[in-house]
Amino acid sequence: MDEAHNVQYQQFLGDSAHGPTEPLDCSSPVEFFEQVWPDALIHGIVEETNRYAGQQGRMHWHDTTFEEIKAFQGVLVLMGIHIVPAFKDYFSSDELLSVPAVTKVFPKNRFFELRGNLHLADNETAVPRDDPNYDKLYKLRPLLNTLQTTFRQYFEPGQNCAVDEHMVKGKGRYPCKQYMPAKPIKRGTKIWELGCSCCAYIYAFQIYTGAEGNREHGLSHRVVMDLARTLNPMQNHVIYIDNFFSSFPLLKNLNAIGIFGCGTPPHSAVKRYTLVRC
Ligand SMILES: [Zn+2]
Repeated sequence: MDEAHNVQYQQFLGDSAHGPTEPLDCSSPVEFFEQVWPDALIHGIVEETNRYAGQQGRMHWHDTTFEEIKAFQGVLVLMGIHIVPAFKDYFSSDELLSVPAVTKVFPKNRFFELRGNLHLADNETAVPRDDPNYDKLYKLRPLLNTLQTTFRQYFEPGQNCAVDEHMVKGKGRYPCKQYMPAKPIKRGTKIWELGCSCCAYIYAFQIYTGAEGNREHGLSHRVVMDLARTLNPMQNHVIYIDNFFSSFPLLKNLNAIGIFGCGTPPHSAVKRYTLVRC
């Protein structure tokens, strides 16, 4: 209680002209995208996709290339904007369904061949499930490591940030799939994100892989602190959180690294404390 009374709002000490960092070698959204998805990542996908197809002994496979994976990536982005009922419909002979912007780039068979072999990591060097170092996200790790670095490298967030969870819809079987019955998207991947409040840029993120063993205690506290530590400390950023995350110990720990917290109080705290001005 006493500590809460003592919190004083402090002026932001970070870069007030927040946004893409300078000098940034880009002048368009596509060029910014290419900064956060660097060529090295595409080269890695080319190498691992060809390796996987070789390991599987695919008949009739011909090796993919940097240019083809870039085109594949572009088509996937397009498919996120122009949505049809099923992947095969993009290549339909029915002109009401087919999307020439896709069929001009890929024949149907090659698109599905790439989709079926796309890999980012070598399966043969994965740590087995019964090993303590088993990584549920091993197959995505090169992508995650790159994006977690470049998202922060090329952008300076403003003073006000928010931490929240985000469900990305996902079907099929994969190890970090979550079921959240109360959410609009009930099945998929849960991602903890720290974003800039004014422009919604995702500055830092973690993928939730499920509680290990018994329920992970202090999960919400750990997540916010992990994401908060990606910000420059002692610059008086403010992190806004909802009652899933907020607690007085968390606000105190944020304050200790020069970050303010603002959250709706958890129900348990409402019972124990009267509201205070801080
Ligand atoms: Zn912003």
